[in-house]
Amino acid sequence: MSQGILESSIFKASGASGKFVNSLKNDMLLFFGTRPGKKETKVLAEVQCPHCGQNGTLTAVSQANYIHLFWIPLFKIGVSQFAECTHCKRGFYKEEFSKEMEGAM
Ligand SMILES: [Zn+2]
Repeated sequence: MSQGILESSIFKASGASGKFVNSLKNDMLLFFGTRPGKKETKVLAEVQCPHCGQNGTLTAVSQANYIHLFWIPLFKIGVSQFAECTHCKRGFYKEEFSKEMEGAM
């Protein structure tokens, strides 16, 4: 009964957020998209905050993104990383990471 839904749907992996895909055979909506997975945090000990100069106050957060089908993660497509200083509350995007920070990740 549900056979053929996957084969007949048009899968578009491009684009950041979820999109509706219309199945050709069954006239039924399938929901594909990307969603963030579990967050992993790591304290970067011994690393100095580039903003306030405190040591060991940076926490790095890594979050993987998954392709999902009906909100069930299918596979991982990338990891986004950022860091935050618990002292000055400054957030850092991956592009702003210092060499020390990258080394400690
Ligand atoms: Zn700081």
